[in-house]
Amino acid sequence: MTQVKTFPFTCPRCGHAELLPEYSSINAEESPELKERILDGSLFSFTCSHCGYSALIRYECVYADQKHQLLIHLPEDPDHPDLSREQDYPGWRIRRVNDPNELMEKILIFEEGLDDRAVELEKHLLEEAIQNEQPDRKIQAMYFMPAEDGYHFAVLSEEGFSGSVPMDHRTYQQIEEEVLPELSERMKASPIINSAWAAFAIGSGPEERGE
Ligand SMILES: [Zn+2]
Repeated sequence: MTQVKTFPFTCPRCGHAELLPEYSSINAEESPELKERILDGSLFSFTCSHCGYSALIRYECVYADQKHQLLIHLPEDPDHPDLSREQDYPGWRIRRVNDPNELMEKILIFEEGLDDRAVELEKHLLEEAIQNEQPDRKIQAMYFMPAEDGYHFAVLSEEGFSGSVPMDHRTYQQIEEEVLPELSERMKASPIINSAWAAFAIGSGPEERGE
């Protein structure tokens, strides 16, 4: 069930105080408009009605997608996640993300019917290839991005968007068929699938990092 409460927020620029909605639970089927607002970035942003200042906000949120049996948890503090938020969904796939951008990316990947673990591994290989070709380029993050002409990864530098690279479907399939089955059960079942996970999976030795 979608659950919303409000919290007081003071504009850091002009001091104007307002009440903002905080969606602690979002049910994708029940509230498709909220899903759209995650995808367009507006759900986790604030624009002051008084002075127009805008900023990103974050709060604890779980996104439940019955169709894909998928629960995505955005903890308020990723270092101390409230794991009880994930325990009401036995048998579902659980994903724990660091920020609203990762939440958005996970929704897009699962909507396309893709495996985010294979996507994350391909992203990691592409990032390594870019860094080998352009060692001076500083990549801050890459995000999966579906487009009309196929799948891409948006590349972000410190200054923001710095181009995109196409995702190769054959590589994706190869990863899915040849790399994923070789991973340990613990890596396969990790709720945290991100660039650090991929780096560890690609370079993984017999020792496993504890989560
Ligand atoms: Zn303001």
